Amino acid sequence: MKTTRRRFVKTVGAGALGAGIAPGLVLGRAPAVERGGGYDVAVVGAGVFGSWIAHELQRSGRRVVLIDGYGPGNARSSSGGQTRVIRMGYGDQEIYSRWSLRSLELWKELFRRSGRPGFFQQSGVLWMARERDPLTVQTLETLERLGVRHERLLRPELEARWPQIDFGPITWAILEPESGFLMAFHAVQAVARRAQRLGGEYLGARVAPPAAAGGRLGEVTTERGEKVRAGDFVFACGPWLAKLFPELLADRFFTTRQEVFYLGPPPGDERFQVGAIPVWADFAEEIYGLPDFKGRGFKVAPDRHGPPIDPDTAERTVTAETATRVLDYAGRRFPPLKGAPIVGGEVCQYTNTSNGDFLIDRHPEMDNVWLVGGGSGHGFKHGPAIGEYVAARIEDGGAVDPRFALASKATVQKRTVY
Ligand SMILES: Cc1cc2nc3c(=O)[nH]c(=O)nc-3n(C[C@H](O)[C@H](O)[C@H](O)COP(=O)(O)OP(=O)(O)OC[C@H]3O[C@@H](n4cnc5c(N)ncnc54)[C@H](O)[C@@H]3O)c2cc1C
Repeated sequence: MKTTRRRFVKTVGAGALGAGIAPGLVLGRAPAVERGGGYDVAVVGAGVFGSWIAHELQRSGRRVVLIDGYGPGNARSSSGGQTRVIRMGYGDQEIYSRWSLRSLELWKELFRRSGRPGFFQQSGVLWMARERDPLTVQTLETLERLGVRHERLLRPELEARWPQIDFGPITWAILEPESGFLMAFHAVQAVARRAQRLGGEYLGARVAPPAAAGGRLGEVTTERGEKVRAGDFVFACGPWLAKLFPELLADRFFTTRQEVFYLGPPPGDERFQVGAIPVWADFAEEIYGLPDFKGRGFKVAPDRHGPPIDPDTAERTVTAETATRVLDYAGRRFPPLKGAPIVGGEVCQYTNTSNGDFLIDRHPEMDNVWLVGGGSGHGFKHGPAIGEYVAARIEDGGAVDPRFALASKATVQKRTVY
């Protein structure tokens, strides 16, 4: 079969985010057929999980093809959008704190190699707490145990450091000075590009739901009819995993519509920019935000789960109802922003598991098929650690932690990971 290749072109203003596809990614067609024997591993889905898995497998010497229907970091995916928080605090869920630590190292290394150190912004992350706040108390204990740099700040110090915040009922906080945020879709495209530089291939195509034969999968077929053969397959399709494997996941994934707002600070007011204010989270009110970066606006996003959403067909326009809630909160907590205009919005989706733990497991009937997803609104930062984890399991055939197993995913939501 003839192989046609073309470079991705930069598209301006694509989707709700204006998320262009990074130049440098090379789109391939039907490469496995060209290679006769096929690939060692085919990774379906080039969000943050799939791109890092492909990168780590390729780095360990496997022949990898990464396949995506809409492109790495596209505006429909959960990995689209301008920014994602990376924090070390996770209450008493120490595994995620350790994964965040490891991931931050790998993100920085990747950005250094890519000549883009600015894709991580060390703005600091501030956990704002009420008097009784078990999650923040547990976070403090975990950060201490793991030796993560942090400061415990009481109300007078908070007021002195950030006079632009009205702390209201907040009596104390934890500052993680070495944490911050990642440039989301840019970062995913950087990972996918790097996987290609290491020798991996990229195929822009949507894969049809696979059909098992004899307990193993031999190939997948794209909607264009190309067949891609591989020894192992990883499906890292975010919310689409439930469309590909409805019998396993239709009741176990809760895909929710999440809205993000950008508020415009007054002219000349630099108090909401990176360096002047950290990323902040107010878990008691289920809301968090990021400093204004490059003039995009001060980000405020409710973390409360929204209604169900279809990732293919959803209209990605924010609602007046959520806007009212966000403006009310911002006006209370950040008085200089009272009456500030909304200068931008994004609609994305969380793919929640019952409790917020990721899904990383083999398909119960196909030995060589991995299902990786369930980012549950906190997965982005962990892309590198997930990449390492899945690559190691494929390499050594080891068991997965029971918390990631398909069997642990219940059909009723009870969130325990924040
Ligand atoms: C508003 C919002 C804010 C968030 N904030 C944070 C945060 O601050 N920090 C944090 O750590 N996490 C955050 N998250 C969560 C994080 O973004 C997600 O957990 C993560 O992006 C999930 O990545 P993924 O690779 O699993 O899925 P996705 O990014 O959705 O990627 C799946 C990919 O699979 C492709 N695909 C699907 N089906 C097929 C098919 N059949 N064939 C080929 N390709 C296919 C899609 O095109 C897509 O590119 C947030 C999420 C949202 C929505």
